[in-house]
Amino acid sequence: MNICVVGAGATGLVAANELVKKGCKVSVFEAENQHGGLVRTVEVGNEKLEVFYHHIFTNDVEIIKLIEELNLSSELMWLEPKNAIYINRKLYPFTSPIDLLLFKELSFIDRIRMGLLVFKAKFLKDWMELENISSRDWIIKNAGKDVYEKVWGPLLVSKFDYDADKISGTWLWNKFKLRGSTRGKNINKELLGYMKGSFGIIYDKLVERIIDAGGEIHYSSPVDRIEPQKDKTLNVHSNGKVYNFDRVIVTTSPEIFGKMNVPLPEEYSEKLSKVKYKANICMILELSEKLSDYYWVTIAEKDFPFVLLIEHTNLVADNDYKSHVVYLSRYLDKKNEFYSLTDEEIQREFVKYLKIMFPNWDESKIKRVHINRTDYAQPVIVQQYSKILPEIATPVENLYLASMAQIYPEDRGQNYSVRLGKQVANMIK
Ligand SMILES: Cc1cc2nc3c(=O)[nH]c(=O)nc-3n(C[C@H](O)[C@H](O)[C@H](O)COP(=O)(O)OP(=O)(O)OC[C@H]3O[C@@H](n4cnc5c(N)ncnc54)[C@H](O)[C@@H]3O)c2cc1C
Repeated sequence: MNICVVGAGATGLVAANELVKKGCKVSVFEAENQHGGLVRTVEVGNEKLEVFYHHIFTNDVEIIKLIEELNLSSELMWLEPKNAIYINRKLYPFTSPIDLLLFKELSFIDRIRMGLLVFKAKFLKDWMELENISSRDWIIKNAGKDVYEKVWGPLLVSKFDYDADKISGTWLWNKFKLRGSTRGKNINKELLGYMKGSFGIIYDKLVERIIDAGGEIHYSSPVDRIEPQKDKTLNVHSNGKVYNFDRVIVTTSPEIFGKMNVPLPEEYSEKLSKVKYKANICMILELSEKLSDYYWVTIAEKDFPFVLLIEHTNLVADNDYKSHVVYLSRYLDKKNEFYSLTDEEIQREFVKYLKIMFPNWDESKIKRVHINRTDYAQPVIVQQYSKILPEIATPVENLYLASMAQIYPEDRGQNYSVRLGKQVANMIK
């Protein structure tokens, strides 16, 4: 069987690898000149580094299994992060339940209520009931207004911008559940996984396996049209050429898929148009000195232009980056004016606020800056999301959509892309 996979990100490469294993002839079409999608890398010092920060959790079983299958387990490191929250211009440690108990920005009662909410979330099984309530209302109902306004409100705005109030309780519940279960028996200790040489080595290995098995990867080859044929095959258009396949799997966002001129019934097209994403701007700073001892700092300040500060080299201490590596990240709506700023303007704005956070720090410590953006960083998980989820098997025979937005009720992540890639490959008979 002759199969086309559109997109060489995690989902597309996993699906392609599964299919070549079954003996299919697979051609992957990728719009960019490199594979990896959101997990693509740049060179920093003598290492490769993801352009967007990545780690995995101990309960990410699908990707751990894939790492084993690719004989890369020796490269997987489990590391203990130190996390913090920046609020009212102060940094507070925020890794363990003890940190929460000592968190002075909330009253003692609110700290207990917040802790209980996170604890309870771990045991809640029926996520469907949370589909009908917003994260905002769920927190206010269970932990009070102050907990929402001081901690979770700014965080939801920072991730979902104008849509923060529409986010389903399911999304936040999942975040609590995930972080809770990555602690294991010792609830004060969290472990995060990272690959020596970056997560990019997983995707390099998948590409190697696909090519060794006779598959092809077409880089710089955006697919702009998919045309169903009378004999149930599909014509795929890319760079002015037409290719014919028995099956096609598209792993782009539903929005991009919706623009591929596929004749789809209105009901399905409507679902595609209802799924929205937030964009992301991510700045990597190569610094001559470290900023703090923390790995993950959540910024709960309404006026800040970035929402996360990730000091990667505080997690991955054993490295050859030749610099201290820091990511500054901002999720936002594509229509937000900030997204139209030039890279220079973004750098200026981010650096201005970094100096507010660390008054003794200045630009002279910057060795190199990389700014990356993506229009499709985070699906917006609104209430009743299950009703707008597009089916993986599209109404056009032999055409499949397997996008990050179809990962639900869990939130996007490499682990679930691996699961989705395998799922869609198994649907092909
Ligand atoms: C800021 C950020 C931080 C993250 N942090 C983590 C983390 O810590 N841990 C974790 O596990 N996950 C994390 N993720 C999520 C993870 O990166 C994704 O879940 C995963 O990479 C999605 O893979 P994918 O293949 O579904 O999509 P993508 O990676 O988006 O791949 C889609 C591919 O399709 C290509 N494409 C688009 N249009 C076309 C076209 N017309 N023709 C051909 N090709 C096309 C794109 O170029 C891309 O390569 C993060 C994501 C972001 C944005």
